[in-house]
Amino acid sequence: MNFKIVNRSDKSKARAGEFKTIHNLVETPCFMPVGTHGAVNGLIPAILEEIGAQIIVANAFRLAEKPGLAIMSKFENLHEFMGWSRSILTDSGGFQSRMKQMVVSENGISFAGKPGQGIWSPEQAVEFQVILGSDLVMPLDICIQLPSTFQKAKEAMEQTVRWAKRCKTAFIPRPGQTLCGILQGAVYPDLRRKCIEEFEDLGFEAYAIGGLNVGESPQEYRETLDKTTTMLRSDKLRYIMGVGRPEAMLEAIEAGVDLMDSIIPGKYAREKNLFTFMGPINLDKKKYFKKDKYPIDTNCDCYTCRKVSRSYLFHLYETTPSTAHMYASIHNIRFCVRLLEEARKAILENRFEKFHKSFLENYKKNN
Ligand SMILES: [Zn+2]
Repeated sequence: MNFKIVNRSDKSKARAGEFKTIHNLVETPCFMPVGTHGAVNGLIPAILEEIGAQIIVANAFRLAEKPGLAIMSKFENLHEFMGWSRSILTDSGGFQSRMKQMVVSENGISFAGKPGQGIWSPEQAVEFQVILGSDLVMPLDICIQLPSTFQKAKEAMEQTVRWAKRCKTAFIPRPGQTLCGILQGAVYPDLRRKCIEEFEDLGFEAYAIGGLNVGESPQEYRETLDKTTTMLRSDKLRYIMGVGRPEAMLEAIEAGVDLMDSIIPGKYAREKNLFTFMGPINLDKKKYFKKDKYPIDTNCDCYTCRKVSRSYLFHLYETTPSTAHMYASIHNIRFCVRLLEEARKAILENRFEKFHKSFLENYKKNN
């Protein structure tokens, strides 16, 4: 991995950077749309390219369930399978390990009620991601639901480290693939520090900050994120999992994060919630949209805002919801991608904190 920081803010930990995969150049900070099963809900790759998505996130654990190893092995990589020529990051299934129906053992994770069958081991997780040809590969980790005791968080972090070692050994990359480390340790700084030290010894080139947004309080989230990025070496790529609300994305950038992903823009689109720079709006609460000839956001450059009105979108939600979701997803995902493009520009021009403040002032207007 050749991650390079292009400019750093002198007032916060925000930084603008870039890295090259064998598929494309990725400029950071960067928002990654989520396509768990190899498709971003309702959108095809041509649209994702037009939206400006540089890299998307898929889930190796889910792809191993369906279509499975035998089918995936017939293709050059996931990029070919789904017709996407830019970069892909795949998660390992560690995030699923916190779910009630999962059983975690030293060997790996499996669904409850199927003992001995279908264990997803750390080795399998990386070997399958090698077959997928993922540009950024995640090791299998243990993500626990919060709140959690120190002892339980410590055990999960230590098992994550043991699995990271096994993943590192099993990882025989194809050209251009990078294995990242996923940091655990819940909201306990001592555990986070220990995890970072272990991973530095293992020599990971990039870090995912895992185990957040899983039930901790907003204050615990902020403090843990801030302390973790302060403890991390400043020259390596940092990815936070599951951050997609506009306020949260800018906060993560200010804390020194480079990559983030979330299902939020697509989920909001299905719930008729649309992002605008004046705050999110809900179509059900804005009945006047029914007759409104303006686009969702007059300042937006997305396909939806260039082509159709609020009135048409309102009509589609009532009559043709799958098309309404597509139009709304294009807008919401473009909003997230563009917000991070603008944040990057602001970092390059040494005005990020001002940009952040003014965004928040405007964003509160519809709330
Ligand atoms: Zn738009």
